[in-house]
Amino acid sequence: MSIADEIFNIFRSRGDAAYFGEPVSQVEHALQAAFQAEREGADDSLIVAALLHDVGHLLHDLPENIADQGVDAHHEEVSEAWLSQHFGPGITEPVKLHVAAKRYLCAVDPDYLSQLSPASLQSLELQGGAFSHKEAAEFARLSHSREAVQLRRWDDQAKVFGIEVPPLEHYRARLEAALVPGKTYGSLIKKASSCYP
Ligand code: FE
Repeated sequence: MSIADEIFNIFRSRGDAAYFGEPVSQVEHALQAAFQAEREGADDSLIVAALLHDVGHLLHDLPENIADQGVDAHHEEVSEAWLSQHFGPGITEPVKLHVAAKRYLCAVDPDYLSQLSPASLQSLELQGGAFSHKEAAEFARLSHSREAVQLRRWDDQAKVFGIEVPPLEHYRARLEAALVPGKTYGSLIKKASSCYP
């Protein structure tokens, strides 16, 4: 089975779960984020990053209301660890930084906080809240921080009930082109679970 098939199978078998207090499923959220990226003319790496940014949520068995229990699943780290076995930093870095990008935007964009969904506000607290001035400046200096902020905005917009967007297969060629040859495909869940605190 190809890596693209393995990834799509994860979405097909586990992606129907609700997306943490939002009116979309996990797979709908991924597809809407990727479509936002494509519609805004993002490069292929960033479109794939948008599609896969929350794959970490599909790799664990934590309940959908995990934030209600005061737990941060650190899904961005799980996603990055898992994706780094197949993809380069153009994909894994924006994914890794997409939660930090939310904390950054809360610090630098006065309108951003007011636009967050209730579920996203709740998880913000668990993720450490808005960055301080100093933390925001440090984040802005990281490579791929700009891409992470773009990804974050598509992420936030990808929670719309019932809209039609292209299916997983629409992204197969981009995903396959982004795979880094020679990377191995084994012990994925094991590696991902080692990221939990
Ligand atoms: Fe997301």
